[in-house]
Amino acid sequence: MQTFQYVKASGIEKALASGGSGKFIAGGTTLVDLMKLSVETPSTLVDINPLPLNKIEKLPNGGLRIGAMVRNSDLAWNEDVQKSYAVLSQALLSGASPQLRNMATTGGNLMQRTRCAYFREPSAGIPGGYGCNKRTPGTGCAAMDGYNRVHAILGTSDHCIATHPSDMCVAMAALEAVIHVEGPKGKRTIAFEDFHKLPGDTPQIENALEPGELITHVDLPKPVDGARSVYLKLRDRASYEFALASAAVVVHVEGGHVRYARVAMGGVGTKPWRSHEAEHALTGKPADAHAFRAAAEAALAKAKPRQDNGFKVELAKRCIVRSLKLATA
Ligand SMILES: Cc1cc2nc3c(=O)[nH]c(=O)nc-3n(C[C@H](O)[C@H](O)[C@H](O)COP(=O)(O)OP(=O)(O)OC[C@H]3O[C@@H](n4cnc5c(N)ncnc54)[C@H](O)[C@@H]3O)c2cc1C
Ligand code: SF4
Repeated sequence: MQTFQYVKASGIEKALASGGSGKFIAGGTTLVDLMKLSVETPSTLVDINPLPLNKIEKLPNGGLRIGAMVRNSDLAWNEDVQKSYAVLSQALLSGASPQLRNMATTGGNLMQRTRCAYFREPSAGIPGGYGCNKRTPGTGCAAMDGYNRVHAILGTSDHCIATHPSDMCVAMAALEAVIHVEGPKGKRTIAFEDFHKLPGDTPQIENALEPGELITHVDLPKPVDGARSVYLKLRDRASYEFALASAAVVVHVEGGHVRYARVAMGGVGTKPWRSHEAEHALTGKPADAHAFRAAAEAALAKAKPRQDNGFKVELAKRCIVRSLKLATA
């Protein structure tokens, strides 16, 4: 591990002043691992744990504000989240382990990096090592023709097929969250769908944050009247495992017809994958098995599997159908 300076940020201003030259550290559950593997080599670590960003507050418009330092466990077990945003609580509780969730934060979860095994190889992207365009642009992608069972089938490019690993982000995509950031140029908001970037020909650029910008909080809109939500995660073992396919759905059914639908997927996309195609296929249709399957077909119509991950196409479709059944039962 490379040596680094450690700075404790006593306030947001101090964090912003130090952030440009290094990396913020929150729970450390992603960053420290990546530093040990030499994937991340910051010269300065800016500890943002003292910042007053650990509250969950109701907004006057009926929404919910989540501070960037709110721990995943506290968010999952929050009464308002469990009652009005069940999909978010379920997604959080399906991730990692209780110990990790006690440390992991909302901001850190948004920023977590891919679990692509080639990317996490200490030698990736350096001469003699595995090619990895995300580590070192222009070195190729070892996963493309390597072992790619867990890799993405949606949003891939010729340069990278890495899956976005977060569960929380899939729920936030379906809930249409808004991310608030503060940086050297001031404050701004980013719609959830615009936060994570497709790999295209720049897979090293993973999100919309400018250098030195700090995520301060995430706002959830007012819950949709009468809607129910579900997160369903399919994986190789029942706990402590990343998704092979997951679905977050928010649905309102009235008079037997779908009046409102939001569908997002995890484990299959290069970013948390909102499916407008599935939502369009559902809205106005009878809430039945036929419509659910049509939505799943629409969601995966553009899937591009590689040699080892073709099974994800049908798995993801069944995941969507099952989660819609659960949300409308
Ligand atoms: C063994 C293991 C299993 C896991 N399983 C799952 C799983 O099943 N599902 C899942 O979703 N996740 C899983 N995770 C990932 C886990 O959810 C993340 O590690 C965690 O959410 C990261 O949060 P953190 O606060 O620890 O981030 P840190 O490690 O502190 O930081 C991560 C990144 O975010 C940046 N950052 C942190 N806060 C901010 C901020 N406020 N503004 C700007 N940048 C910021 C840091 O600079 C760093 O680049 C697993 C992790 C491990 C180690
Ligand atoms: S899939 Fe992306 S992260 Fe993985 S080796 Fe290829 S370029 Fe690197």
